[in-house]
Amino acid sequence: MSTFIQLTYFVAAVLFILGLKAMSSPTTARKGMVWAGIGMIAATIVAFIPSTATYAWQGDHVATNIGLAAAAVVIGSIIAWGLAKKVEMTDMPQMVALYNGLGGGAAACIAAIALLQGHAANYVQQSMAVLGALIGAVALSGSLIAWGKLDGKIKKSWQFSWIQLVNGLIFLGALALGAYLTSTIDLSGTHAVGQDTITLIVVFFAIALLFGVTLAMPIGGADMPVIISLFNALTGLAVGLEGFVLGNPAMMIAGIVVGSAGTLLTKLMADAMNRKISAILFKKFGGGGAGGDDSVEGSMKETDANDTAINMAYADRVIVVPGYGMAVAQAQHKVWELTELLMDRDVDVRFAIHPVAGRMPGHMNVLLAEAGVPYDIIEDLEDINPEFATTDVVLVIGANDVVNPVARTNPDSPIYGMPILDADKAKNVVVVKRGKGAGFSGIENHLFYADNTRMLYGDAQKAIGEVIAGLKAL
Ligand code: NDP
Repeated sequence: MSTFIQLTYFVAAVLFILGLKAMSSPTTARKGMVWAGIGMIAATIVAFIPSTATYAWQGDHVATNIGLAAAAVVIGSIIAWGLAKKVEMTDMPQMVALYNGLGGGAAACIAAIALLQGHAANYVQQSMAVLGALIGAVALSGSLIAWGKLDGKIKKSWQFSWIQLVNGLIFLGALALGAYLTSTIDLSGTHAVGQDTITLIVVFFAIALLFGVTLAMPIGGADMPVIISLFNALTGLAVGLEGFVLGNPAMMIAGIVVGSAGTLLTKLMADAMNRKISAILFKKFGGGGAGGDDSVEGSMKETDANDTAINMAYADRVIVVPGYGMAVAQAQHKVWELTELLMDRDVDVRFAIHPVAGRMPGHMNVLLAEAGVPYDIIEDLEDINPEFATTDVVLVIGANDVVNPVARTNPDSPIYGMPILDADKAKNVVVVKRGKGAGFSGIENHLFYADNTRMLYGDAQKAIGEVIAGLKAL
């Protein structure tokens, strides 16, 4: 049976890796999700089979509480299935943050059991458990804060000047307590964990959870993508460490895969925001809309759907910049219909994708792929930016922060330094949005007040529908 279990874990691990590989392209992503899901189901089922393999500290605990564990799996699956069926596409990032946090919390729970049982085989295993507990707890509370911010439940900024010092002290406190817990384990495994140690373990978890909160609370502006992928990487790391503690290879590999993919994503997101990871970890993050002179001169100038249609119909080149508002309005199908009509009139239309547009990595690519937009007209920031200056019309659909020129011009702005799509350099810009709503960073957008910009107010789906009607009437 033991060989069967190990073999299943091996197959599950291969499925995780192949699944992740397939997820790197929108065309194969769905297949990748299915493969990784099958791997996870297989690994979960074999975890219930009693194994003859012994993992030092586990002793007889491997196969106990099977009924409780099975009940937890069933209840959890039903809840997750129901929530995932119901969730709107625009609420997906919150859900991902929540599930990511729960993964970290699960790893922290495994660590809590390991510490409370006090049966670590050696100091290495104990320190793995402690480290996994710290990282998992930070990922849990930090991801919950990220969920609250993405969902608009938590005010976006929470800064005070010595926040980094407070964070440093909390982190050092957790590390010191963790080191103490490691040094005091009873390697003989003959003594039960005392009340004093239990109290210390509880305090340790409380400090670790607090650290996740104080780490995530100051993050605002446009920096959320970085911290979300950082928590994702931390969850993977915590799961990998606890996999080592449990001696479960599938957990180790799944954790390592998630941890390394999350670390790479964090690096990519940090590069996209023009932030160094060291600065992200040890310096001040972007604020939440405060800071800098936010005042803008001039006024916003309105246009209508017919004028926009005429403008684009007689243009040589059009660039579409989609953003979070397109996702909210689910306007991607209309946008593609408009694009096809323009292409029929020999207009060169391309899509410009900012790496943090929307609310999750690849958000815009997923929506455009769903609408059937061919990949060869979708361009990344570095490739498309030089093209704006020679573009007749830029159609900004529900995008805000990713086209805000203050990121280039105002050193006091919370988004200063973030590369943006250079929409303002085009001959004409039409911005589709419902009203005067700010973007995620909460700051004014100077592009909307520029002389070459016109505002087309309305829900993106409806507004683009009207432009299509205008175009057809020409
Ligand atoms: P923004 O959040 O900056 O702006 C979205 C705009 O869409 C708003 O100004 C809003 O204005 C408009 N809008 C909302 N609903 C509609 C609708 N139904 N129809 C038309 N317009 C609508 O979006 P961007 O994509 O430009 O920028 C993404 C931001 O999110 C960045 O700051 C990024 O850092 C952050 N972020 C990104 C994550 C990621 O991984 N991609 C994760 C977390 C945060 P109005 O209300 O007036 O309509």
